[in-house]
Amino acid sequence: MRLRLLAPAAAALGFLLVIPASAADAGPGAPGIGDPYYPTYGNGGYDVSHYDLDLSYQPATDTLSGTATLQATATQGLTSFDLDFALTVSKVTVDGRPAAFATSGEQELVVTPARPIPRGHRITVAVTYSGVPSSVERYGFTSWQRTPDGGVAANEPESAWWWFPSNDHPLDKATYDVDVRVPAGEQAISNGLLVSQHTANGWTGYHWRQDKPQATYLATLALGHFDITRSRTRAGVPVINAYSSGLPAATAANARAGVERTAEIIDFLSGWFGPYPFDAAGGYVPDVPTHFSLEAQTRVFYSPAVFATTDGIGTVAHELSHQWWGDDVSLARWSDIWLNEGFATYGSWLWAEHQGKGTVQQIARQTYDAYPADDPFWTVEPGDPGPAKQFDDAVYDRGAVAIQALRTTIGDHAFRALLKAWPAQHRYGNGTIAEFRTLAEHLSGQDLGGFFQTWLYTPAKPAVLPGG
Ligand SMILES: [Zn+2]
Repeated sequence: MRLRLLAPAAAALGFLLVIPASAADAGPGAPGIGDPYYPTYGNGGYDVSHYDLDLSYQPATDTLSGTATLQATATQGLTSFDLDFALTVSKVTVDGRPAAFATSGEQELVVTPARPIPRGHRITVAVTYSGVPSSVERYGFTSWQRTPDGGVAANEPESAWWWFPSNDHPLDKATYDVDVRVPAGEQAISNGLLVSQHTANGWTGYHWRQDKPQATYLATLALGHFDITRSRTRAGVPVINAYSSGLPAATAANARAGVERTAEIIDFLSGWFGPYPFDAAGGYVPDVPTHFSLEAQTRVFYSPAVFATTDGIGTVAHELSHQWWGDDVSLARWSDIWLNEGFATYGSWLWAEHQGKGTVQQIARQTYDAYPADDPFWTVEPGDPGPAKQFDDAVYDRGAVAIQALRTTIGDHAFRALLKAWPAQHRYGNGTIAEFRTLAEHLSGQDLGGFFQTWLYTPAKPAVLPGG
């Protein structure tokens, strides 16, 4: 932990030492954005505003190729900068001029433009590449899952490296155009709305657009054969769901029973969290063997395992809650994961209560009682679990119990105001637990320092669950 925390500072020091005297206002961008858990994730020196991905995919060979064009602004004078990427690059241009490039570490692509970029300058970076993403491992794994009829990119905290070069950290959110060609008869699913679909010469191009800021790990791509359904929320937001045609019949039926309630659940959650933040909604169920789901923005990635024996409605409510908690308001650093998983779990409890499955207080009480005080469950601090325990059960379940305890502590009126004020204040941006606490204290008029210490930052079971 401590060594990891020191790494970004060391990188920054290195950067300061190598500034050439002749260009004192320009230097290399840092190879990490400064995250305490993942020092090499994201990069320093620029901010991306838009990704335009123009790709082709051949399912027979799992070959992905194309060009990613990034619109970015230099936040410092840059002699070079990094992108995070793992496929093979053949060409890079900056503002149309060829740029030198080299790989470094596990996922760094170091780009050196023909001339230094002044601070504040807007740049267009085009990267041409290809690769077989399922064959590419970084840190011993791949986030690309090959399926019987194609492939899927979805993982947390990293999946972009396997399909587009990026500033891979939730601090740098951007809009997206994702244009993918697949052999006619195949489909490409991504985030947002389908802008166009066009078939020529045996290939079909699918153009998806995400016009609201989106974190890189929430960008997703699925290629294969899917059955598509369409509906709308009460507010008129288009819902597009996709089900792999390769799913077992029972799984496909269960998946539809759960996922087709997306609009209804969004309508319900909007009553708690405020207006749904995006122009599209939905999810997809690819033919993958893995068991995790992911709150990909406007198009949730669901594991088929969720629907093996039930409609998985709790998972659907969890992932849709993330559209406010994680997607609309994203983490500023991965150590604040409680703001995502605690509240997404709490959203699924609100839905369960709405469905007559017990009150949220009863669910919180059952969860609190389920783990004795000496259970290792209580040694994980939801407010700073460490990278190895970032997705531990405690972040979800103790995290959600903590939110119910907060509700009892500050009262229902302030709590309801808090759940709507947070997304409203940080819309399409980022937030920290410290900022959340400040807002909770402002709305409740209480000092919550002791509460947050007990529930989020102490490796022990809180002695009392407020509210009985
Ligand atoms: Zn979650």
